[in-house]
Amino acid sequence: MRHYFETLEYQHLAPFAVKSKESQGRTHKEPLSETRTCFQRDRDRIIHSKAFRRLKHKTQVFISSYSDHSRSRLTHTIEVAQISRHLARLLKTNEDLAECIALAHDLGHTPFGHSGEAILNKLMKNHGGFEHNNQSLRIIEHIEKKYPKFSGLNLSFEVKEGLKKHYTPWTKPTTKNTFTTIEAQIANIADEIAYNNHDIDDGLSTKLLTESDLDQKVSLWKEAKAIIKKKYTNLKNQERYHLINSYLISSQIINVTTTSQATLKKNPLNSIQELQKYPNPIISFNKEMKAKNNELRQFLSSHFYRHNNVKKMNKQGKMIIQKLFEAFKNSPQLLPEKYWSSPKKTPLERIICDYIAGMTDTFAEQKYHSIYN
Ligand code: MG
Repeated sequence: MRHYFETLEYQHLAPFAVKSKESQGRTHKEPLSETRTCFQRDRDRIIHSKAFRRLKHKTQVFISSYSDHSRSRLTHTIEVAQISRHLARLLKTNEDLAECIALAHDLGHTPFGHSGEAILNKLMKNHGGFEHNNQSLRIIEHIEKKYPKFSGLNLSFEVKEGLKKHYTPWTKPTTKNTFTTIEAQIANIADEIAYNNHDIDDGLSTKLLTESDLDQKVSLWKEAKAIIKKKYTNLKNQERYHLINSYLISSQIINVTTTSQATLKKNPLNSIQELQKYPNPIISFNKEMKAKNNELRQFLSSHFYRHNNVKKMNKQGKMIIQKLFEAFKNSPQLLPEKYWSSPKKTPLERIICDYIAGMTDTFAEQKYHSIYN
């Protein structure tokens, strides 16, 4: 069966797409799967990891207990994977690899979102700092314990490189990638498409954003709203929001596809080696869409991410992490026994940092109350 999937890739994928049969392999050599390509196997390993399951109770923008319908880190991840697969298929690149990178891209996030990351980075200032992309790599290379012969998930080289490539407007990973793939570029832009659009949706449904603010300040929203208005009458607000959201995602996927195809037409790439020499990202929005996305991002930043309710949650989250860190530092026996019962090569601060970073919002809150009450 594996041979069948590998052959399909040669028949259907672009010359610059990664072919699973040509993967540069895993750090620890393992026999190949009989039924799955290396990237299909990696996807399954990520989905069956503990770090992946914990994403369900980690903050995207809202604390996981805030509302049942707002995105958690897990549902965000699933949306990124869906958009990645769609784009990868349209551009004849390796869907399985793009999906792997998307599914693993946020594994390293702390509880309480970017505010959790910021405070951990501050607390770790003299001990190597903290950054969520680097932490995603740490999880898949060291922290997950599932296999008797090695730590981590032993994922393929291209998946790990794809995670190094992943950056956002908030963070720039310090680990440099050495190998460019179109699939990593796809996962990167899929992340942007997902959060820009689901944040409008979550903002409206929690009433932290108002439609009139969006009407005045966000051209993407205004255009989508006009198109939906022309097509349908008498919609309830929730139905309308859903259709606008769906239109926004589809139009951005089409924009990335046509822009990237035009770039490839002008600069044909006949192999993955030629892609390594190409100086700019192939996968991109056109100029106009970039400008409109910037406008949207600035709007979300001032009206949503810095909304008082969100700021309050962030402040509370930071306080919990800081207090937990202090408590574990002063009394390491508060950590699970396996972390202090025998001498460790890893410094105590990094052990504490890994432990806190792995927590869900709910577990961090419980731990805090059990220590301080
Ligand atoms: Mg993300």
